[in-house]
Amino acid sequence: MAAPSLPVPLHVHAKQHAVLLSPQTCPNLPKAFPIANPTISFWQQDLNIKPSPTEGSEDPLPGDVDICVIGSGITGVSAAYHLAKRFAKEEPNKPITAAIFEAREFCSGATGRNGGHLTAATHEDFVYREKLYGKEDAVRETALQQYTVAELVKVIREHGREVDVDLVSGGCMQLFFSEQELADARADFAAAQDAGIDVSQVEWMGKEEVLQQYGAPYPGVRRPGNNVWPLKTVGLLYELAKTQTSKFSVDLYTRTPVTSISPYSDSASPRRWSVETPRGMISCSYILHATNAYVSHLLPHMSGPDGVIPTRGQVMAVRATAPPDAITSSAWGANEGFEYWFPRPVKPGEAAPLVIIGGGREAAKPTYELYEVDDSVCNEEVGRVMRRFLPSVFPGKYDENGEPEVEWSGIMGFTKTGDPFVGPVVSASGDPKPFEGQYLSAGFSGHGMPRTFACAEAVAEMIACDVLGRTWAVPDWLPRHYLTFKP
Ligand SMILES: Cc1cc2nc3c(=O)[nH]c(=O)nc-3n(C[C@H](O)[C@H](O)[C@H](O)COP(=O)(O)OP(=O)(O)OC[C@H]3O[C@@H](n4cnc5c(N)ncnc54)[C@H](O)[C@@H]3O)c2cc1C
Repeated sequence: MAAPSLPVPLHVHAKQHAVLLSPQTCPNLPKAFPIANPTISFWQQDLNIKPSPTEGSEDPLPGDVDICVIGSGITGVSAAYHLAKRFAKEEPNKPITAAIFEAREFCSGATGRNGGHLTAATHEDFVYREKLYGKEDAVRETALQQYTVAELVKVIREHGREVDVDLVSGGCMQLFFSEQELADARADFAAAQDAGIDVSQVEWMGKEEVLQQYGAPYPGVRRPGNNVWPLKTVGLLYELAKTQTSKFSVDLYTRTPVTSISPYSDSASPRRWSVETPRGMISCSYILHATNAYVSHLLPHMSGPDGVIPTRGQVMAVRATAPPDAITSSAWGANEGFEYWFPRPVKPGEAAPLVIIGGGREAAKPTYELYEVDDSVCNEEVGRVMRRFLPSVFPGKYDENGEPEVEWSGIMGFTKTGDPFVGPVVSASGDPKPFEGQYLSAGFSGHGMPRTFACAEAVAEMIACDVLGRTWAVPDWLPRHYLTFKP
């Protein structure tokens, strides 16, 4: 089953993990801050994005709000959405005000430049998680992802926005390029099934079957999965956050980077924090760090292997040469998850689908794009292997010398466990006191679409409970090891 023609190396995950744990192999440890003039993703090229990319960039700042959200990706905006829903259900004594501050344009971080995959795990990585965190938390990982995807799809459908956000529920197919990868996936599946996870929708396919049905000579496994236009999905959540209740208001201020946070000095005021931006200072009681890859800029103790490591990913939009009926509408993944791709819904008049494909990082030796914050450029070597990837996996369906229509990069936030930090901000020694009122949800390690929305719900609920004088109860679906404290 060896695949000599593949342009990417196999079995790199363990090697890149060793680099991740050794920041000294990356001599110029970057300051994790969104840089100017990033590449423009396919998603950002649509001129009908709402809110506008520069929403609030010239509006006067509020000066004082109850809740400052830093970052307008899916985490920050989902948190605003959940706060709005919560305060619509249980009204606070006085209307609650919130502001979202974004360093660059609206949703221009990882969310606005990702691969658009919205697929929940069923059995993936189960053995690893069970070994590390025990069976209950491994089961919760699947529960969290299933919950996130179901809720997001429900929101989109309830508001009739399937077409607007290009929701495609075409399933997700994982290909295996080696016997070892297949055996590991089978072991994950068996362990997940033993733990009681519903795997009834998982379908294993042999090499011949995949070849016949899809034109790729590798075995695979299919499970339910979706794709969306991520930027438009977040735009919908923002619209809904603004319109839930008069008891909660939220405004967006783009091109407004938060440069520092300090204790609020007016002792006569109940406010805790002073949030500094080049456009002025804002006082507030609560802060949510929804900054993912960039979290260590404002929380320096979260840099390096014990925190969140910025890691550059690369994506391109390539035109297939085969007609739409020869290219399935499914999402795809391969090679330990390094590559992922899906064909966009075909527009009238299009002779062949446009396929969004991300990956290639495993070819970027020696650092695999770890500790890299510059999304103003693409990595040439990554681009080179990615141009050859689809033509080699699906012979005859792509032009071997084809050039992408769009190519871009984006910064993910990796952690050494692959899982995020969710909850109150704590010091390096675990002390929450110096950060009272500050929360974070960050470090999604390149797998955020099926996790961020629910993690944002958890932190939003923590803030809402504090405002309302309620006790926060940990949801059944939240893996306990995500939390920054022991529940
Ligand atoms: C190339 C690429 C491909 C990916 N593909 C997929 C995929 O197909 N499926 C999947 O599930 N996941 C994918 N991911 C991962 C996924 O996109 C992320 O996990 C998720 O979007 C994280 O969302 P977030 O809101 O937490 O972070 P982000 O979307 O990065 O949002 C953080 C925001 O904070 C802003 N910010 C940071 N610091 C400051 C500051 N000091 N002041 C003001 N604003 C600040 C940033 O500009 C940014 O907009 C991909 C990521 C990348 C980069």
